[in-house]
Amino acid sequence: MCQEPWNRGSLEMGLAPACTPPVPPYLEAASPACTELETVMMDWLGKMLELPEAFLAGKAGEGGGVIQGSASEATLMALLAARTKVIHRLQAESPELTQAAIVEKLVAYSSDQAHSSVERAGLIGGVKLKAIPSDSNFAMRVSALQEALERDKAAGLIPFFVVATLGTTTCCSFDNLLEVGPICNKEGLWLHIDAAYAGSAFICPEFRHLLNGVEFADSFNFNPHKWLLVNFDCSAMWVKKRADLTGAFRLDPTYLKHSHQDSGFITDYRHWQIPLGRRFRSLKMWFVFRMYGVKGLQAYIRKHVQLSHEFESLVRQDPRFEICAEVTLGLVCFRLKGSNKVNEALLQRINSAKKIHLVPCHLRDKFVLRFAICSRTVESAHVQVAWEHIKEMAADVLQAERK
Ligand SMILES: *Cc1c(COP(=O)(O)O)cnc(C)c1O
Repeated sequence: MCQEPWNRGSLEMGLAPACTPPVPPYLEAASPACTELETVMMDWLGKMLELPEAFLAGKAGEGGGVIQGSASEATLMALLAARTKVIHRLQAESPELTQAAIVEKLVAYSSDQAHSSVERAGLIGGVKLKAIPSDSNFAMRVSALQEALERDKAAGLIPFFVVATLGTTTCCSFDNLLEVGPICNKEGLWLHIDAAYAGSAFICPEFRHLLNGVEFADSFNFNPHKWLLVNFDCSAMWVKKRADLTGAFRLDPTYLKHSHQDSGFITDYRHWQIPLGRRFRSLKMWFVFRMYGVKGLQAYIRKHVQLSHEFESLVRQDPRFEICAEVTLGLVCFRLKGSNKVNEALLQRINSAKKIHLVPCHLRDKFVLRFAICSRTVESAHVQVAWEHIKEMAADVLQAERK
């Protein structure tokens, strides 16, 4: 029974007391179950996605998965590991090079549709990050990337890191991995894949092709807390060579040493992440996987995708509206044909009515509304009601405009 006074409140409310164990599970030595279940859950999830064997820990693999708190952290970890790796490589070739002289020249790349967290990783990591112009489907293509690489190398800069996005935040577009991947491998650039939202869909065989090319990546990440029914927070990250991560940030002060750490058989996740202490996040994954099963999770994803197509066809039947990007998963980008002003007015009207909530985006210079299917309990009836409501708001806006 927990005696700490700060837990009395929860006891009185009839909730389970949140006991702090005498030794926090900072270390593998203090809570081996926390580590072990995480390794096993990440392998289970990796197998659900049909990730290449190289990303799995298995029995003797060099890769493996780790649960981070967010996709932003995963991208940052990948960028920092890639930065350390390139610094070590260049210093091995030319020992007179200082770290500062190298970092100053490092350049990372992502598409102009990448999430702002990618730009932030560049800011925090202290390296330049360049946005590659995406094509007419909002995808990063190899020609545009190659052009940037050639230009930057000619200017004496050092390309080292590329983030490809699968399922962009703006419109759920997909960078062309099969084109971009081989170039990254050839040029020795670390390829990180950010599939924060879309990654969950890859457990369905019919969507797995969207992940083709993952074999070229060094690290891959998605958020089960976004679309796989695992409560916030839970961001799943895999690396092909875990030594790249653990080697980049390893520190072993006396107070964190333990007897079997150097055996080589122990995963110490503190070397894979920024914080030291960690939560038992794999437990909630275990519960979700056991409760739903792979089939249950697949059915959940399929239902959402089907509902987004249902909304898409409603929009397409109304000549006042247009669809702005290909609908692949649970997101529909649409707008009234017409000015940005009229669409901004429509969004404002919809969100102030507070029946549904839409988050907008800009696609090139167009202001676009985004209809996202994401609730656990969503049904066709909700989509129909939402569309009727949107049409009503649109009629009001169009009428006001004519006055
Ligand atoms: C949501 C999202 C992110 C940010 O995820 P966090 O876990 O909140 O950091 C990054 N990239 C993409 C593509 C996203 O959809």
